[in-house]
Amino acid sequence: MSKLLERFIRYAKVNTRSDAKSTTTPTTQGQVELAKIIAEDLKEIGLAEIDYNTKNGFLTATLPANHTIAEPIIGFVAHLDTADYEAENIQPLVHENYEGQALLLNEEKQISLSPDVFPNLKNYLGETLITTDGTTLLGADDKAGIVEIIEAAEYYLLHPELPHGEIRFAFGPDEEIGRGADLFDATGFRAKYAYTLDSGTVGHFEYETFNAAQATIKIDGVSVHPGTAKNSLINAIKLGEQLDARLPSEEVPEKTEGYEGFYLLHKFQGTVAYAELVYIIRDHNHQTFEARKTFIEEQVNAINQEVGEERLTIEIFDQYYNMADIIKEDFYPVDLALQAMKNLGIEPIVAPFRGGTDGSKISYKGIPTPNLFTGGENFHGQYEFIALEAMEKTAATIIEIIRLNAAGN
Ligand SMILES: [Zn+2]
Repeated sequence: MSKLLERFIRYAKVNTRSDAKSTTTPTTQGQVELAKIIAEDLKEIGLAEIDYNTKNGFLTATLPANHTIAEPIIGFVAHLDTADYEAENIQPLVHENYEGQALLLNEEKQISLSPDVFPNLKNYLGETLITTDGTTLLGADDKAGIVEIIEAAEYYLLHPELPHGEIRFAFGPDEEIGRGADLFDATGFRAKYAYTLDSGTVGHFEYETFNAAQATIKIDGVSVHPGTAKNSLINAIKLGEQLDARLPSEEVPEKTEGYEGFYLLHKFQGTVAYAELVYIIRDHNHQTFEARKTFIEEQVNAINQEVGEERLTIEIFDQYYNMADIIKEDFYPVDLALQAMKNLGIEPIVAPFRGGTDGSKISYKGIPTPNLFTGGENFHGQYEFIALEAMEKTAATIIEIIRLNAAGN
């Protein structure tokens, strides 16, 4: 078994599901365990400055420069945690030389991974597929990213004759709950540019993300016995419905794509006396993002005016911003990645990402950090799978990025 595959299976088996309800860093102990296992592996292959920061949950390490040209320091980042899906007792299955058939994942539960349902399987004929046993996720998001980075680092350690500058590595917690990168130490990381390894199939590359905010609207109603409620009852639920009706009905996730932004009513709960609505607001364009926040505030004010008193209050906080606004100042990391893919014959698939990545936050901390593919498919569920060949291509892309950086692009 290749080292890449052996490491992947070993890491995949560690339950690192993050937990939004936890207040610790990282949110779950499994992430600490995995960081320690990885730290041992990094030591064994010979990386330097291996450091697990217990305050922010990031494991960092360095591949020291072996030549004197002072090219920019590049970093590679992946996350330790897995999505909010069953992650207890993960048993990865290896299927060699895939021939296009349905793969039986679980005999007892009769769970199969079939190309009838997932035609993307047909892209992997002849390759080695790693799947789940049908009862958990696989966690290729993002353990594939971790092992691909280690594979590339090990390659350079085994080939000291190949010149490269200083390369930094970071493996961080709690990406899936949008929290990990908040505590990332960008200054200590030293890199001028970085890449997260956290996107999908081979070729996927993102340097545009949403701007993101969350709005919470609290509504105080007046609950009166319905028999004597005339002119005195104020129904908080109805006011919430009024607010939602004022928002553009076409600008919702289920009706938008590409660069189109939206409001998503994410949570709505209440009684006559009190109701609460939570929206998430998303837009790639910073101006229209700000306009959306203003618009929802205006609607809240308008309803308060109609009611004649301040029944509704709104709180909005920004979650992350579009990394493109940082990256457009300096396309170096984008050009480097695209050139690396071109050199390896990988067709780039570049699209505005309708979400955020750890790189969104790291970019705003001063290190432009686009998002590179991992090679995985069907993330966040029991049908997740990845090809060994896709992981190898990703590692090769990292190796080529480092080579191009050292060669002065
Ligand atoms: Zn991920």
